[in-house]
Amino acid sequence: MDLNFTPEEEAFRSEVRAFLADKLPARLSDKVATGKHLSKADMQEWHAILNARGWLANHWPEQYGGPGWSAVEKFIFENECALAHAPRIVPFGVNMLGPVLIKYGSEAQKRYWLPRILDGSDWWCQGYSEPGAGSDLASVKTQAVRGIDAQGDHYIVNGQKTWTTLGQHADMIFCLVRTNREAKKQEGISFLLIDMKSPGVEVRPIITLDGEHEVNEVFFSDVRVPAENLVGEEDKGWTCAKYLLTYERTNIAGVGFSVAAMAQLKAIAARQRKNGRPLAEDPAFAARMARVEIDLENMKTTNLRVIAAVAGGGVPGAESSMLKIRGTEIRQEISSLARRAMGAQARPFVAEALEDGFDGHPFGPEYSAAAAARYFNNRKLSIFGGSNEIQKNIISKMILGL
Ligand SMILES: Cc1cc2nc3c(=O)[nH]c(=O)nc-3n(C[C@H](O)[C@H](O)[C@H](O)COP(=O)(O)OP(=O)(O)OC[C@H]3O[C@@H](n4cnc5c(N)ncnc54)[C@H](O)[C@@H]3O)c2cc1C
Repeated sequence: MDLNFTPEEEAFRSEVRAFLADKLPARLSDKVATGKHLSKADMQEWHAILNARGWLANHWPEQYGGPGWSAVEKFIFENECALAHAPRIVPFGVNMLGPVLIKYGSEAQKRYWLPRILDGSDWWCQGYSEPGAGSDLASVKTQAVRGIDAQGDHYIVNGQKTWTTLGQHADMIFCLVRTNREAKKQEGISFLLIDMKSPGVEVRPIITLDGEHEVNEVFFSDVRVPAENLVGEEDKGWTCAKYLLTYERTNIAGVGFSVAAMAQLKAIAARQRKNGRPLAEDPAFAARMARVEIDLENMKTTNLRVIAAVAGGGVPGAESSMLKIRGTEIRQEISSLARRAMGAQARPFVAEALEDGFDGHPFGPEYSAAAAARYFNNRKLSIFGGSNEIQKNIISKMILGL
């Protein structure tokens, strides 16, 4: 197993760096680095820049517009983007629905929907979770009843989804709906594409601890959906659902995000003072920083080991759950330390409080202002994409056979 990048891979890294230096607008990277709010227009702008270069749909085969990258190249690209503070690729259309359509969609569905994901005509969100169906996803209750009338073959959908990320911006939602209440619960689910502008769809915001509007509840009351929007076979949506989840956990370890956040943490700790000395020299704080940095180095190696195995023809199994658990724990610990390092200045309400010398105090760099918001927001990491407890169950089943 060789964990070093080949000369070709190093050349690819240089190409990605040059692209980011040239094309990533400073306005966007500043917002990401300082933890400012990204608008839908910001996210769309970055998608369009990547799409123009053919680098948006990194998990798609070349015939549908993917760049044809290896697992290592995807890893390098994602890490370089995180280090450059690029906005993340919004995953719902590109990284989640796209691969499902490519594997299970009809030719007509692929022809129609895939180009619209690439050019941003449709903004997608994910309608899996419901109150009472999160970890136990197969318990979804949102019901779709099929019927035919003068307007054609259709479903009528009633129910509720929750935690729908960026659903307030979405044109379309891909949903798990129950089409058969008699069958075993995994066997009565279908995968349906629903137009968010349909009469009967209502989106209500959920405001998170950091003050952001990131997630929503989505309600369906007698929503009419054309039957042609069914992906795969009726009652066989669980197969699509599981396939999509393997893509949802891709890069959830977020090594690049942690490396960038670690650099920011060190900068904050070097500036903040405790008992007249830089906080970075405080033995207790330095020990916690060292521990998380060592964990991050281990994590990088594990990530490369998994990628090397995939490049050699292997399939990641329990490893993707391990990466999810450790990666999210590390991200949470780094954001926790950054918040501690900033203390009361982690979330200033007086903007000038971040300026050096404000009221006689040397305060931190601008990005430290988001330290508390990041800390709160990162609580989600161990919950979404399948909670870390559920990942531990998966590991115990796959490795210990329990
Ligand atoms: C910020 C955020 C964004 C999200 N975005 C989306 C989205 O866009 N679309 C979408 O469909 N969903 C989304 N989710 C939902 C997410 O997938 C669920 O929150 C997650 O799967 C957990 O489900 P739950 O919230 O219902 O918690 P529950 O399943 O009720 O779990 C509660 C607690 O019990 C634990 N637990 C449950 N079952 C077991 C078990 N068998 N063994 C051990 N422990 C267990 C869990 O780990 C958790 O700690 C998002 C969630 C968050 C927080």
